[in-house]
Amino acid sequence: MEDCLFCKIIKGEIPSTKVYEDEYVYAFKDIEPVAPIHILVVPKKHISSLNEIKEDDEVLIGKIHMAIVKIAKELGIDKDGYRVINNCGKNAGQTVLHLHFHLIAGVNMGEKLI
Ligand code: AMP
Ligand code: ZN
Repeated sequence: MEDCLFCKIIKGEIPSTKVYEDEYVYAFKDIEPVAPIHILVVPKKHISSLNEIKEDDEVLIGKIHMAIVKIAKELGIDKDGYRVINNCGKNAGQTVLHLHFHLIAGVNMGEKLI
C-alpha cells in the first residue's frame, strides 16, 4: 500500500520544515498555520488515528507527549502556554489519516475550545 502524506514527510519524500526529531517522533511546521506557532507532532509509526492505538502503543503515546513538552521548552512557549489538539475522525475534522497532534501557541486563545 502507498505511504500516506505524513509517512512521506517523515521519509523526506515530501519536504517539510522540521522542528524536532527523535527515535519515535517527527515534528514539523503546519503548512497552513492557524497561529504564530503551529507544529504537527507525529509518531514515525503509521497509526491512522487515535482510535487505532493499541496497548503496545502506550509507550509511544507517552513519547509523543514528552516530545511536545521538549519542543515547547525549546521554543520558549512553555511559560505563556500552548494548546495541544488531536482531531480524531470526521466530526473533529481529521483530514490526514496519520495520528498527529497540533501544537499551537503564540497567541492568547482564551477559554473556549471551539
Ligand atoms: P487535521 O485536519 O487534524 O487532520 O490536520 C491536518 C493538518 O495537516 C492541517 O492543519 C494541514 O494544514 C496540515 N498539512 C497538510 N499537508 C501538509 C504538508 N504537506 N505539510 C505540513 N502540514 C500539512
Ligand atoms: Zn502514515
